[in-house]
Amino acid sequence: MPSANLDLIRAINQFNILNSIRARKAVSRSEIADMTGQSRASVTTITAQMIDKGLIFEKNVEVTGERGRNRVLLALNPDAAFVVGVKLAATKASSAVCDMQGETRSTVVKNDNFMGKGVDFIAQYIDELIIAAVDEAGLKLDNISGIGIGVPGVVDFQTGTCHWSPIYDAGSVPLRDRIQNRFNIKTYIENDANTLTLAHQWFGEGRGVDNFIVISIEYGVGMGIITNGQLYRGVRGFAGEMGHVPVTPDGELCICGKRGCLATVVGGMALVNKAKCLSENGLWVRQSCSDIEFEEVINAAKQGEKSLIEIFQAAGHCLGVGLSVLINIFNPEKIIISGQGVDAGEIMFAPMREAVNKHTFSDLLSLTKIVIPEWQHSDWAKGAASLVLQELYKSPFNTIRPLI
Ligand SMILES: [Zn+2]
Repeated sequence: MPSANLDLIRAINQFNILNSIRARKAVSRSEIADMTGQSRASVTTITAQMIDKGLIFEKNVEVTGERGRNRVLLALNPDAAFVVGVKLAATKASSAVCDMQGETRSTVVKNDNFMGKGVDFIAQYIDELIIAAVDEAGLKLDNISGIGIGVPGVVDFQTGTCHWSPIYDAGSVPLRDRIQNRFNIKTYIENDANTLTLAHQWFGEGRGVDNFIVISIEYGVGMGIITNGQLYRGVRGFAGEMGHVPVTPDGELCICGKRGCLATVVGGMALVNKAKCLSENGLWVRQSCSDIEFEEVINAAKQGEKSLIEIFQAAGHCLGVGLSVLINIFNPEKIIISGQGVDAGEIMFAPMREAVNKHTFSDLLSLTKIVIPEWQHSDWAKGAASLVLQELYKSPFNTIRPLI
């Protein structure tokens, strides 16, 4: 067998072992063998190398009821690697440092308006967010094994190029290489909904679920798809543009140039624009005269502003129709709703569920659980960090540094 194939098999075996330890937090060698289908001998050899490299450690656990007998479990060394995740949104940016177990060591969240700002401004901003998160974690850049960046828009993970983003309009931008060259640290860039999906798969609602979908409601509407345990990226990595699925033919003009996209009804951009119209026509009397933010619209609707409640209900209905399409096509075990839109609560999600129930093929409906977990903006940065952790786990002997 060519050595490239042997290397690949070894890398897959290592990944599966690390992944099984991550999934169970502490696990015996024989349980790893059962979980991965590898022989005890292979597990013993590979885990010995991992212990030597400081990736994992042996943990003695007393077995209750069997006096004098201890079980030796293997656990991840959280300090084996630290990674930084950065997420940019239209009016907010965040960064986080996570350890090898995916625990957050620091979080930085900043409010700023990125709309229409040049790529140089954005690249500089990312630099500062990375440095701030590393400082906050009490670490140095030398301690960082990788950087992950999540941005809304059409991103090619393989080439590290952002082809289009609603937050800047500059054609194709090799954002990954700019950051990688600046810090000389391995850097990855991915669509933000995909990074959030990885975070759910590794550390959240998607843990142990092989088929699920994440819908993010932010400035636009994003989607990440996990099928058979793998992120589905499509032919060039552009899959999941849920926000640009047509829901109202000949509807409003979307930022993508087409008409009637879901993003013209659901999401911060659509809801803020509609709220602006209501305010200009005297149908919503605001307390403030500053620019309208998504948060203000959500809060006013929750406080009972009737005209705003109606636009959230319409959004919820369209979202529900969209979800029923997804359930009928993908038959997912879970759909996880995330992003700032989660704060709208039942004003939007009651009509969403109603539409899902009405439009989904009933045999499929009962198989999909829709969950709306609590959300905070720093989840995005953790998602971007998960992107790096996934890559580190895939090649533990090649890319992780420092090796303790
Ligand atoms: Zn569109």
